[in-house]
Amino acid sequence: MSKILTIGEILVEIVATNRGNGFREAVPLIGPFPSGAPAIFIDQVGKLGQECAIISRVGDDDFGWVNINRLTEDGVDVSGIEVLAMGTTGSAFVRYREDGGRNFVFNIRNSACGEIELSDKTLALIDTCTHMHVMGTALYAPSVVTSILTAVERIKAAGGTVSFDPNLRPEILDSPGMREALQTVLSKTDLFMPSGEELFLFAEAKTEKEAVAELLAKGIKAIVVKRGDKGASYFDKDTQVDLSSYKVEEIDPTGAGDCFGATFVTFWLKGMHPAEVLRYANASGARAVTKAGPMEGASTRAELDALIQAQGNA
Ligand code: ADP
Repeated sequence: MSKILTIGEILVEIVATNRGNGFREAVPLIGPFPSGAPAIFIDQVGKLGQECAIISRVGDDDFGWVNINRLTEDGVDVSGIEVLAMGTTGSAFVRYREDGGRNFVFNIRNSACGEIELSDKTLALIDTCTHMHVMGTALYAPSVVTSILTAVERIKAAGGTVSFDPNLRPEILDSPGMREALQTVLSKTDLFMPSGEELFLFAEAKTEKEAVAELLAKGIKAIVVKRGDKGASYFDKDTQVDLSSYKVEEIDPTGAGDCFGATFVTFWLKGMHPAEVLRYANASGARAVTKAGPMEGASTRAELDALIQAQGNA
């Protein structure tokens, strides 16, 4: 039985309830919601009943415990989350603009998860896992990059697999050593999950078809391209599957890619047919956008089955 691991930031998200530019004025807020792309990903994996764990750090405060409690409730092994008595849990304030973009105010680097170093305990935890999921957002600090690359190496060396969701923000891309770290992760990746244009950050080719072929030729086994409300596609050397999205009311798109990815990885590791795996992931991404708060739209398998039954093959 597989056990899925991720490493990276855990924080809370506080969301403006009206649209506009940033926070240089008083705005109505909701939250704190448990968050951090790796935390959302692993929560969705746990909710599907799949064995999984996260390695991270939080402060010994309410923002840390709201995350630990939620992840525990949803079945995630939280033994790799270090609670720092002198630390503070990170936070992100997010406000959607009228144009659909988002403005963030982050406090991660100075928070407990600003550094994640491995210990004998977390190395032992890594050795119980058979699949590592890397999130580009988690490559924000040298210690976290080192921890992620160590986990990737160990899990691959033991015959496990790696998935990679670049999830890139331009401000992270220009951090020192970031591009090298991304290439190293890519060279170990079995399942690559970019969103739309991110594909072209990793390939020379200028068309999607050629970029996919180029990456498959480098040894990546499967590629899933996420397309927001346009659906998603799957590619391997023999198969291509394209699905349009399920029809839902979008309330908050944060977390869609993480829930989609978590569901794809979980069902892919079960050895299901890629078309079936993509259908579940597509349903998971769709359900994720229907609730305010990044992790609030994570689904159980029964909820995914209900959406798929109600709407058929999107
Ligand atoms: P990311 O957050 O990584 O950019 P996307 O926004 O592409 O990811 O969303 C991931 C997946 O979630 C999409 O491929 C799609 O399956 C689903 N999804 C996203 N937004 C919607 C939406 N508005 N309606 C239905 N499905 C959606």
